[in-house]
Order: sequence, then structure tokens, then C-alpha cells
Amino acid sequence: MKNATIKEALKGASLQLKEAGIPGCGSEGVLLLAFCMKKDRVFIYAHPEEEISSEQLEHFQELVRKRVSGVPYHYIVGSKEFMGLDFKVTPEVLVPRPETEILCQTVLDYIEGRYLGPLRLLDLCCGSGVLAVTLAKRLPSCRVWAVDLCPKALKVAKENAEFHRVSKKITFLEGDLWEPLRVQEELTFHVVVSNPPYVATGELAALQREVKGHEPLLALQGGKDGLNFYRRIFGSLHNFLKPQGMTALEMGKGQMLKVKSLAASTGIFETLDVVKDYSGIERVLVALSGKNGLSKLP
Ligand code: GLN
Repeated sequence: MKNATIKEALKGASLQLKEAGIPGCGSEGVLLLAFCMKKDRVFIYAHPEEEISSEQLEHFQELVRKRVSGVPYHYIVGSKEFMGLDFKVTPEVLVPRPETEILCQTVLDYIEGRYLGPLRLLDLCCGSGVLAVTLAKRLPSCRVWAVDLCPKALKVAKENAEFHRVSKKITFLEGDLWEPLRVQEELTFHVVVSNPPYVATGELAALQREVKGHEPLLALQGGKDGLNFYRRIFGSLHNFLKPQGMTALEMGKGQMLKVKSLAASTGIFETLDVVKDYSGIERVLVALSGKNGLSKLP
């Protein structure tokens, strides 16, 4: 029996993905097939008549079925790009979002060209480790501490650090937010970053089927109003942030005003800056303690 060609395999898959309401169904089919054939997208487009083996076809159809059932694309292929770097992702961690790239870039913009000394940086709720690893890679003389409650997420983060060769710069700690840091005396940071769980309980039901059915709830649930973590972050930040330090946090739509007032109520910040995302949503709060924030660091 003749094997299926790329074109034939894609035709069936695109239809299934379309019927399941997967946005970008055509291109996802191409990407999944490229993944099964260990080729790139361009190869798939350029060789419609190429035959694929029956094992590859079977594998491809299985992945399409998974996608149709709502498994996010990046869990199927097991990776996601973040700030131009490739990260392993599993269902134990959130798939990194473009909004978090804005948080990461904001931190880099503040630090790069302003402060080149040895920095101590903390990533709370690190998940897959995208922030900790990217910042460790981009900031030459920094040391990073990365905390997460979930041991399986930490395992993924450690693998990502190893893959990007920054394991030696990062200390991973398992525990609930500040808790694992309390035992380490005198540990203070120039920079604290976090993309904590911030979805309000009442809003969980309205999340996309893919998100609520497959991504870890632990990484999404921020309590009744979504702000539990910000309250806890600002409740203890003064113990850990250096007098001339910076905190940068991601948050959800409509949360800025309240998070800003939580930041202000600590009394330790001179400046609070807001950064919007590509949809114009106030997404990142940058809080600087001390007159000139990081610029005055030794
Ligand atoms: N941005 C995520 C979402 O849209 C939420 C991430 C978080 O809670 N930190 O579902």
C-alpha cells in the first residue's frame, strides 16, 4: 500500500483541527507534522508530495488527536520559545506567555547600561524558570535565586538552567513564596521579579478550555480577587529587598491600581512605573526603592 504524502496527511489533520475550533489550524498541522518528521516548517511546505512513513503518520495522527482534545500545542511538542531561547515545558508548568517577555525585557532595560556590578536577583514562583534562566544568561555578573512551591516545576526549571548553561548561577529553592528564604540569614536582593498566580477564583471558569483543562491551576489561582500573592509579596518584601533595589511584577487585567496601592503601602518605594502590554493592558509594575533605584548601586 502506498504511504500517505505530506499533503494528504495535512489535509485530514487541518480538517480535524478546524472542526475542533483550534485557531491557526492549518499552521499547527504543519508544525505538528514537522515535529513528527524532525524537519522544519519550510520543509513541510516545500515537499507536499513527499511520502511519510506509516509510523510517522501514526505518531502525527496521535498528536493531532491530542491537540483536538484541547492539549496546548506547546505541551505536545514539549517546548516554547521565550526571549529567543528555547525552554522545556511540561503540564507541571505554565506555558510562558508573551506578557512575561515584557516583564523580562523591562527588567533588562532597567539594569542593562545602568548597573553592571554583581547583582543578586530573586524570582518568586519561577515555574519553568524562564525569568530566572533568561536573566541569568543576559546579565553577566548576577546570581539568581529561584523559588517555587512545586517540586516538579523546579525540576523543569533546573533542566532549563542546565540546558542554557546557567545552573551555576542559580540557586533553586522549593517552598511557599518567602518561606525557603527565611532560613537563609542576611539574604537580600537588588532585584525581585515575579509572575505569580493572579487569576481570581471567579475568573477561572472563564479561562480558555486549553488553559483551565491542562495548565497547572496552582500556577494560576490567585485567590478570591487574584491578589493573594501580591499581598504576600509586599507583606515581606522589606525584609529582602536592598535599600536601593527594584521589584518588577506581572499582573492581570485591571489589577494595577490595587497592586500599586499594595506597593505604596509598604512605604519603601520612591518610584512606581507601569508598563503596558501589546494590547494596552497595564501589565508590569516596576517599583524602585531608594532615590534613584538601581542607578545608585555601588
Ligand atoms: N497570563 C496567564 C493567563 O492568561 C495567567 C498567569 C498567571 O496567573 N501568572 O492565564
